[in-house]
Amino acid sequence: MILVKSERELERIRVCSRIAARVHQKVREAIRPGVTTGELEKMAVTLIRESGAEPAFKGYRGFPGSICTSINEEVVHGIPGSRKLRSGDAISLDIGIRRDGYYGDAAITWPVGRIEGRVKRLLEVAERALYLGIAQARVGNRLLDISHAIQTEVEANGFSVVRDFVGHGIGSRMHEDPQVPNFGQAHRGPRLGSGMVLAIEPMVNMGDPEVEVLSDKWTVVTRDRKPSAHFEHTILITENGPEILTKV
Ligand code: MG
Repeated sequence: MILVKSERELERIRVCSRIAARVHQKVREAIRPGVTTGELEKMAVTLIRESGAEPAFKGYRGFPGSICTSINEEVVHGIPGSRKLRSGDAISLDIGIRRDGYYGDAAITWPVGRIEGRVKRLLEVAERALYLGIAQARVGNRLLDISHAIQTEVEANGFSVVRDFVGHGIGSRMHEDPQVPNFGQAHRGPRLGSGMVLAIEPMVNMGDPEVEVLSDKWTVVTRDRKPSAHFEHTILITENGPEILTKV
């Protein structure tokens, strides 16, 4: 069942989402060759706590980090640490916020220094696919209209969507119904309605869609070790169309 949020709940989700957006904006400024993923995490945690919130991923199902930092062939769930960014890397920052019992969730993949043309295109296509998916999050559409729009854009550009991880409803839990796949047939799935909140998050691979989990039990990588990109927004479906809550 997809929950429809009350105004009171939406106000809290909005606050969390705005914090996520602001933290992204600030941490992004620190991305450069030589900086470690652990330093980016530390900065994010300081900003999150200054906002009166908690990093939602810390300890979630035992996750050891406070944000996810996934570089190049790492798709999602990379653990921040001593790894230094290098020019040519693409790093996905995934930041989840909890405050007053509610959640907001957003991810962006950024280039570090100068990146290869094909990687740049991967990032552009993944971000565009996210926005095309969001555009389908309209009252009266069906859930997989979102999925279909994402998959179509990605595959038209010769890339692939990850199947093993999907987007999700979000609210008083970080992961609620429904699952929001990044692939599927249009006109399928539950009908979308006003007041539903979704975290839409395409994970786009340059090569094949298959992924595997490293021995740290968390970091998801592409099986062919080609690069991957990840973009996510928390959005609200309104009578006037989708509203992106994690936008600065
Ligand atoms: Mg998410």
